Amino acid sequence: MNSASLDQLCIHTITTKPWAIETSAAKFAAAGVKGITVWRDALAGRDIAKTGQLLRDHGLSIVSLCRGGFFPAATAADRAKALDDNRKAIAEAHALGAPLIVLVCGAVPGQPLTESRRQIVDGIAALLPDCQAAGVKLAIEPLHPMYAGDRSAVNTLAQANDMVAQLKSPLVGVALDTYHVWWDPALEQEIARCAQLNALFAYHVCDWRTPTVDMLNDRGLMGEGCIPLRQIRAWVEATGYRGFNEVEIFSTRLWATDQDEFLAKIVQAYRDHV
Ligand code: ZN
Repeated sequence: MNSASLDQLCIHTITTKPWAIETSAAKFAAAGVKGITVWRDALAGRDIAKTGQLLRDHGLSIVSLCRGGFFPAATAADRAKALDDNRKAIAEAHALGAPLIVLVCGAVPGQPLTESRRQIVDGIAALLPDCQAAGVKLAIEPLHPMYAGDRSAVNTLAQANDMVAQLKSPLVGVALDTYHVWWDPALEQEIARCAQLNALFAYHVCDWRTPTVDMLNDRGLMGEGCIPLRQIRAWVEATGYRGFNEVEIFSTRLWATDQDEFLAKIVQAYRDHV
């Protein structure tokens, strides 16, 4: 399997969290990065439309806005609040010029996962008119089962595909993140099924370190861990996917390093391992 094309390299703003989005945009563009996925915290205090223009002026494609979701809640009032925040995210994506919002779907400690999944489907369905009006799609991101308690009741690609099949909307698809799904014995067949549903909207890469010392902020740079990235990309590309390969790394360890050197390492690791 050949290296991934540099033309498909996208980096999430959270990967270089110590940098302001303006700095990330300039540095990414100078390094030959072609896409950027924007985390909502990076937009705080900014004119969102102007920020979108700035990113495009650097030649960057705006791939996604991260993130919406967190639909399940114990009360109807709290579920309505979650929908309000998602509608805000849809408006932000529209202003930014991002065609897609990544969903971390949510879970409620103590609530059955089946009930949370029902609430997630209902929540997504309620947003579809807003998505249609704004020209923004939604991508369900299955999260690793270690997050099933409180972050997402969608823990396998099969579950995400089932929701896509149930919702039957061209506006709803999947964000496939290697960190969350690499262990899944059904991964190859579910990637194929996702593509058959025309739902493979985004592809995120990083690595799984052993031991992982923090459930959230100890992701590895590609090549530092045990995810078979070339194998998974082969399965993804076998479906015809030619979208971006998005580098999404949350790492307290790597955020503490020189970010210029880190960016150079990301580009090299992308060539060597993705
Ligand atoms: Zn992701």
